[in-house]
Amino acid sequence: MNYRNQYVIIVIIVLGFFMFQGFFDKQSAEKNISYTEFLAMVNNESVGEVVIQGQELLATDLNHVRFKVYAPQDADMINILRQKGVVITAKPPAGTPWYVAVLFSWLPILLIVGVWIFFMRRAQGGGGLGSFTKSKARREIPEARFTDVAGIDEAVEEVKEIVEFLEDPFKFTRLGAKIPKGVLLVGLPGTGKTLLARAIAGEAGVQFFSISGSEFVEMYVGVGAGRVRDLFAQAKKNLPCIIFIDEIDAMGKSRGAGVGQTHNEGEQTLNQLFVEMDGFEVNQGIILLAATNRPDTLDPALLRPGRFDRHIEVPLADKNGRKKILQVHTRDKKLSKDVSLDEIARATPHYSGARLEKIANEAAILAAREGKDFIEMKDFWHAKDREDMGIERHMQVSDKEREITACHEAGHALVGVLVPGNPVNKVSIIPRGRAMGVTSFLPIEDQYFFTKEFLLAEIKMLLGGRIAEEIAFGKNFITTGAQGDLRVVTKTVRQMVCDLGMADSLPLRSFGERHDLVFLGRELGRNRDYGENLANEIDKACQEIIDDCAKEVWKMINERKETLNEITRLLLEKETILGEDVKVIVFK
Ligand code: ADP
Ligand code: ZN
Repeated sequence: MNYRNQYVIIVIIVLGFFMFQGFFDKQSAEKNISYTEFLAMVNNESVGEVVIQGQELLATDLNHVRFKVYAPQDADMINILRQKGVVITAKPPAGTPWYVAVLFSWLPILLIVGVWIFFMRRAQGGGGLGSFTKSKARREIPEARFTDVAGIDEAVEEVKEIVEFLEDPFKFTRLGAKIPKGVLLVGLPGTGKTLLARAIAGEAGVQFFSISGSEFVEMYVGVGAGRVRDLFAQAKKNLPCIIFIDEIDAMGKSRGAGVGQTHNEGEQTLNQLFVEMDGFEVNQGIILLAATNRPDTLDPALLRPGRFDRHIEVPLADKNGRKKILQVHTRDKKLSKDVSLDEIARATPHYSGARLEKIANEAAILAAREGKDFIEMKDFWHAKDREDMGIERHMQVSDKEREITACHEAGHALVGVLVPGNPVNKVSIIPRGRAMGVTSFLPIEDQYFFTKEFLLAEIKMLLGGRIAEEIAFGKNFITTGAQGDLRVVTKTVRQMVCDLGMADSLPLRSFGERHDLVFLGRELGRNRDYGENLANEIDKACQEIIDDCAKEVWKMINERKETLNEITRLLLEKETILGEDVKVIVFK
């Protein structure tokens, strides 16, 4: 029986009790009459007997009908009754009924207990009368299978042995094979770590306990540790099983990173995790999986042998992988014949599985809203644009602003088709998210190497927008629209010069020790490891690259003012045009 039921039963008993009382009150219920009526009856000599209880009188008439009377302070009453020969019985004034007395003396305690229960239940999301330290882990046998996980075949291959182990632990332990206790899945958000973990449990048909690292973090000391203890206690009752801790970095931050209370609390929680991990043997059938995208912040003690000593990378999928992910998420959707998942995969480098799933869903929603029977390619592009840049904004744009935006995007597009970078896919002046317009490119393949030529082409294309504005409207009309472009230009140039040795004027080396997660593609900071002189040289080299590109772009556009105008006009007319349209104008 759960505690909710217990509550209901208590309430029913209490209510029942009062109704019971009421029932007896009703049984002896007498007609109420006024004092005047009562005196009249006495005068008529129709009252035979009166029971006096304080100011309450219970009168019985000669027909044995009883009446209830509430009497005022009346000193004469007794005399009148005696005169009329009424039989008088006196009783001590009625106090509060015993059950009311009990209720009142217990009420404060009941209230306190009630409030306490209320907070307990709140603290643990409805677990009952237990304690704060009940873990909030969700338990299930997942439906997910490896066929739901696409594009990360190597990671799947690596976890298959976990499934085999869970299905038949003896097969491994017989030969003394060591199965990892803890497996850390490392990858960017949305790459399918949770999905993979659930698929392992699903394939093996075992219980899957999942909890997020942040759920162990509480204000109160000892709570986190208690939850860890409880989690393992539950798991041990459901062998074999998998425990999955998402965002383990939230509980496993390098010790010393926190301050004060929370710091100690985190340490206790982590220590409890170690106690539990060190305390069970793998052959009992518990495997711990954890996910993080910040392996660099994890407490090293977490990664020691016997703990999370096996790491599996869950990378972003390549083009083929993305196609497979799209296939998984369009399995149950009706696609029109014109849909090429291959082409969508090509246009979505660096997209996570989660984002691809979102695009597939969004496309279906867009098609459904238009009442279509099939999802068309158009819907996928539309969905991708939304995912990239937010939904279209219906904002008031002045004619002048539209014209400048069109010119800016025409500049990107014009330069884009002239330089040896990725081909232009689409140009649009429909405002989306924070952008007034957009020029998008379609990579031919996922690229892992970039040539200097390619990077320079990228910089030129980015400068094209701003320089087109300058040429068409004059220096005084430059707008703020190129902000994002300039930021990307600066970052690209910096990398070319500092990391890639692409500046001719500088010695061949890297400048500044970068602290980043190469595989996560994130730069965290840079230590300067060169002197003042070199710093000046670096700045100069960066500026030179940008200046050279800008000069070239200026020439490129200035020689083709009419072409720029033509693209601008077409954009103003159609709002969205294709790379092909731009090519036709430029190369006619
Ligand atoms: P993570 O745990 O790495 O942040 P999730 O597993 O929560 O990512 O991914 C969210 C959703 O995105 C999944 O439920 C799944 O629908 C989709 N998804 C992500 N990666 C893949 C993949 N490799 N194959 C198929 N679907 C994926
Ligand atoms: Zn731009």
